[in-house]
Amino acid sequence: MFDYKAAFGNAVDQVRAEGRYRVFADLKRVRGQFPRAVWRRDDGTEQDVVVWCSNDYLGMGQHPEVLTAMQAEIDSVGAGAGGTRNISGTTRSAVDLEAELAAWHHKEAALLFTSGYVANEATLTTLQRIMPGLIIFSDSLNHASMIAGIRNGGCERHIYQHNDLEHLEALLAAAPADAPKLIAFESVYSMDGDIADLAGTIALAKKYGALTYLDEVHAVGLYGDAGAGIAERDGVLDQIDIIECTLGKAIGVMGGYIAADALIIDAVRSWAAGFIFTTSLPPALTAGALASVRHLKAHPELRAAHQARAQALKERFLAAGIPVMPSESHIVPVHVGNPVHCKMISDMLLEEHGIYVQPINYPTVPKGTERLRFTPSPNHDDGMMDALVTAMDKLWTHCNVARLPAVA
Ligand SMILES: *Cc1c(COP(=O)(O)O)cnc(C)c1O
Repeated sequence: MFDYKAAFGNAVDQVRAEGRYRVFADLKRVRGQFPRAVWRRDDGTEQDVVVWCSNDYLGMGQHPEVLTAMQAEIDSVGAGAGGTRNISGTTRSAVDLEAELAAWHHKEAALLFTSGYVANEATLTTLQRIMPGLIIFSDSLNHASMIAGIRNGGCERHIYQHNDLEHLEALLAAAPADAPKLIAFESVYSMDGDIADLAGTIALAKKYGALTYLDEVHAVGLYGDAGAGIAERDGVLDQIDIIECTLGKAIGVMGGYIAADALIIDAVRSWAAGFIFTTSLPPALTAGALASVRHLKAHPELRAAHQARAQALKERFLAAGIPVMPSESHIVPVHVGNPVHCKMISDMLLEEHGIYVQPINYPTVPKGTERLRFTPSPNHDDGMMDALVTAMDKLWTHCNVARLPAVA
């Protein structure tokens, strides 16, 4: 008979052998004290830590307006949505949130999904069903959820080198002029912190008759006067066909969505299995996200403070000879270049300095580019930054990791 135990054991062993077996730190966030948390060790003892790698970029997951809205919604309508949107899960805060999101991105309509992953996967799969013969052009560093959606549909696809518009144009030019085409890309790439050329990509899409599909997951709430993302910052909101975002990072709650013309949204709503056949988000989440988006729209000073903190950390690391990788965004990646060192530094930061930052190793990033990825928020104060830079400086010496200018 089949040895089931061996199959599962082999699967885990393989991950271990590749050095990418994960152990999750047991962290309890402390309400109102973001980015502080309590870490529980394996032996049950606890230590206060400062989290430096959260994607809750602005601490909105702890914001009083968000918490109040969520609590009020539970008090008023209860816990679960009660079903799929088609059956019984269309709640008022979901409808209001979709209207708010559509207006934010200057689109006619928006559609909620249970996560950003599901939004990408379901939408990209469904677009291939709606447009048989669709050819998708996908940036080589696109997120796993986009790749999953593109593959699921089984259409012809071409991967262009990361942010390389010459390569993209060569691929577009080689495709049949009358075929339906879609360019799928991100604005802020979250591991390197670089930003795509939106205007250049849009120009190519127009020249070759392609639609544009933009993942703004790491930009929404953070860029543009009203916080709608890089497309707003660059003044091209009306020229991106489909924008996809998460409610789980800067917005601080959970869920995902797309925003587009009403007809596109209507078609996806009618065809996407990943939308139709799953229970919709609980009302407390949609109410919390709605409060968060309204707050983010009205508070550009949060975005200014966020950028200032990221810039300050980059400068302080550079001054200490810590090899910050070039990043045009709020993401502060530090090059280590070795998976063992990367894990060791991360462990020592946690155990000896109460600083939590995840090591980023292969396959999330290419081998030899292992790194620590810091995401400072407006809530990371000068004292926290002093402690971080001092600890990193000590560990860099202790572990004998290359300093600048050894890393170009
Ligand atoms: C995190 C992430 C997603 C998925 O969003 P979730 O809401 O966490 O499922 C999609 N795209 C990118 C680029 C991401 O980093």
